Amino acid sequence: MKLQTKIISVLMPLMIVPLLVTGWLSYRQMARSVEQRTVAEMQAKLAQAAVEVDTTLVTARANLELFANASLLSQYLLTPDAEQRYTVLQKPLLRLFASYQAAFPAYSEIRVLLPDGTEDVRRRNRLDEPRLSADLDKAFFSALSAAQGQHAAFVHDEVTGRVAFLLGAPIRLRGPDQDPLTTVVPLRGYLVIGVRPDFMAARVHGERIGKQGSLFVTDDHGHVLYHRLDGLGATLPAIMHHETVGHAQPFVAPIKGTETILLSRGVFENVKLFAMLPVSEVLADGKALGTWAALVTLVAIAVAASLLFLFVRLVLVRPIQELSRAAHEIGEGNLERRILIGRKDEVGELATAFDDMRRNLAASNERVRQIAYFDQLTGVPNRTLFHEFLPEAIAQTRLRNDKLALLLLDTDNFKRINDTLGHDAGDRLLREMAARLESCLRTSRKRPGVTPNGEHDLVARLGGDEFICVLPLVKSRTTAGMVARRILDAATQPLDLQGHEVLVTTSIGIALYPDDGEDAEELIKHADIAMYEAKRTGKNTSRFYAPAMAINYAERLALEGELRRALERGEFRLHYQPIVDLESGDIAGAEALLRWQHPERGTIAPDAFMAVAEATGLIRGIGVWVLREACHQLKAWMAAGLDAMTLSVNLSSVQFQDAELATRVAETLDEVGLPARRLQVELTESTIIQSETAVAELLNKLHARGVRIALDDFGTGYSSLSYLRRFPIDALKIDKSFVSNLGDASDKAIVQAIIAMAESLRLDVTAEGVEEQGQLDFLRHSGCHLIQGYWFAKPSPPEQFLSLRNQIRERCGHSATRMRVADA
Ligand code: C2E
Ligand code: CA
Ligand code: CA
Repeated sequence: MKLQTKIISVLMPLMIVPLLVTGWLSYRQMARSVEQRTVAEMQAKLAQAAVEVDTTLVTARANLELFANASLLSQYLLTPDAEQRYTVLQKPLLRLFASYQAAFPAYSEIRVLLPDGTEDVRRRNRLDEPRLSADLDKAFFSALSAAQGQHAAFVHDEVTGRVAFLLGAPIRLRGPDQDPLTTVVPLRGYLVIGVRPDFMAARVHGERIGKQGSLFVTDDHGHVLYHRLDGLGATLPAIMHHETVGHAQPFVAPIKGTETILLSRGVFENVKLFAMLPVSEVLADGKALGTWAALVTLVAIAVAASLLFLFVRLVLVRPIQELSRAAHEIGEGNLERRILIGRKDEVGELATAFDDMRRNLAASNERVRQIAYFDQLTGVPNRTLFHEFLPEAIAQTRLRNDKLALLLLDTDNFKRINDTLGHDAGDRLLREMAARLESCLRTSRKRPGVTPNGEHDLVARLGGDEFICVLPLVKSRTTAGMVARRILDAATQPLDLQGHEVLVTTSIGIALYPDDGEDAEELIKHADIAMYEAKRTGKNTSRFYAPAMAINYAERLALEGELRRALERGEFRLHYQPIVDLESGDIAGAEALLRWQHPERGTIAPDAFMAVAEATGLIRGIGVWVLREACHQLKAWMAAGLDAMTLSVNLSSVQFQDAELATRVAETLDEVGLPARRLQVELTESTIIQSETAVAELLNKLHARGVRIALDDFGTGYSSLSYLRRFPIDALKIDKSFVSNLGDASDKAIVQAIIAMAESLRLDVTAEGVEEQGQLDFLRHSGCHLIQGYWFAKPSPPEQFLSLRNQIRERCGHSATRMRVADA
């Protein structure tokens, strides 16, 4: 389970339960207060009604007293003569009563009773006002006469349906003939007022409790007097027996089959006021409240839950995720990764701690790197960094199709300074050397990385007094040579070591990619060889690598001696490789290739000794032999029928240093008796470069004599078109490296360009190193018809040469057939 889920599943209940409890409690509280409010409303309505009854009765009592004391009434009652009373006084009295009733319309009747209960005068407000039944009337009179003063009663005459408050008061009057001092005042009669309780009906109809609640009035027996509820019924005896009736306590009873809350109050002895409200309405209010409470609680829960979720995400989960991502990246080695939690709490502290850890790690990594990749004495990169850097730099140079130079330096007199002035002086010298080297090169001011950035040179100390420089940006040998010159100048500036002025000299070996080596190992080896050559040939100088240097000195001496003897002992042989004319299918010529038939080591190819032969100049003697031998052989083959063939002989650049070369060749031709046109000499572009004028002179002489001239290994060197025009060249030989690489589109294009160019300059063109049918087909297709290569024949001893003809014809025909098929 995820941390977020865990925290939320623990915290959610902690939050939700109190919310639910609070919601429930407040719902209960509100529901109760709804009930209480309902009861309070009922009580208030009842109280108002009761007060109205009271007020009405209090007023009626006061009026009764007032009316009873009216002088007209007194006069009336004191008039003994009945005749006079009825005829004279009764009318004004009735008018008086009428005026009362006009003022108090509820006083439905005003009566005067005689002391024995006989009704003497009655004034009714409305004529239809029914009389009270005799029993009730009699009962009221007995109660009135029994009472000492006023008497009031509420009557409900079930027979007539009359409902009224009856109030009566005795009237005692002293007659004019009576002694005012007698205490006993004689009773003359009673005044009775009947009050119609219309006001109660009005109130019952006017009041409303809640929505469906109302008031109603009953008498003691449960007869309903006033109500506003349809079909309530005339009596409600059931509720009258309820114990709380009249006690202002709410109770629940069915009314019209509906559970109803009831509250009652007794007014006036036998009148009951009721307030009622269906339970369902209170419940509905409660339910609405409950819905609200539930809704509010749910919203609160939702809001709280989202806040909790956000909080947990923001405060815990996000920072932890960020931390874990950072930890991951740091773990994978990205020590630059910063941890971004700008907070001051525990998580923030953790992040800070993490970040400190990362920084320490980066720092110690940097220290380790410093120790692993940099020379502690001079501060420049060490051997390890160099060995990782160089292959990368070579790979980049290869991609850019560019050159790279490696300069290996060795201080010439370091050991002597170290021995005489001590190690401290030696250390200072090395530091100074490193600084001077860096000042001569475009090194990165920043700490160099293992991977070259394509902009900066690299200076590294390999150990001892050996430094190496990688120049990934040199465009040519000349630039590399200039840099070496600059370094030599800087190195030889006098240096003050402990009061001694010391002069330091350096030897530099230079190797170039790709000229002197295809990979790092080869380049380093060759720079090393060149450096030793520089030391050997005088120190305080630089040398470019040359293959001849590759032979170590001792070996070289031995080889030199053996080579010298080999010539004397006749250990050299010539092998011949046919050059085939595809158009005729015959041998067009052959190239003479030198072999050394060593008595112990067997046949040795020229690559193994040519460098020494050239370096020692032995090639001159060998060359003379080759030329004579080849010419004799050609003469023999011409005699054997190959009279149209041309024989190619390779000439080394050293041979061109001999000003008599052309004369020698001419002499040999004469001596053997060979037409000059049958001989072709091959030389490389590098030979021309060494001394253009001297070579040009010799070539012109040879050409004038009729000897054909071919440029060998064409395409690998300078391939300057101007040579082809300035020198008397007859033929080009496409270098075998192109032929073997015809799978490559750009090499294909180069070969085709060379062929086209040769054609336009009317030069013969020969492809060398053809080993496969496909190469042959391509060359034929591209217009090159002179082919040399293993596909037809390897160089072989002359005895076997003639027998090659059949094999060659066969191969030629075979491929021609295939070509035709392909063309079709
Ligand atoms: P080169 O003049 O370019 O000679 C052609 C080289 O290519 C020969 O190597 C030959 O054996 C080789 N070759 C021919 N066809 C094929 C082929 O199909 N596949 C492959 N892989 N190689 C093929 P070789 O005989 O070892 O001679 C090497 C070099 O030594 C020559 O290169 C030439 O520069 C030099 N050399 C040979 N003989 C003499 C000589 O008499 N005088 C001088 N000065 N140099 C010579
Ligand atoms: Ca050649
Ligand atoms: Ca060649």
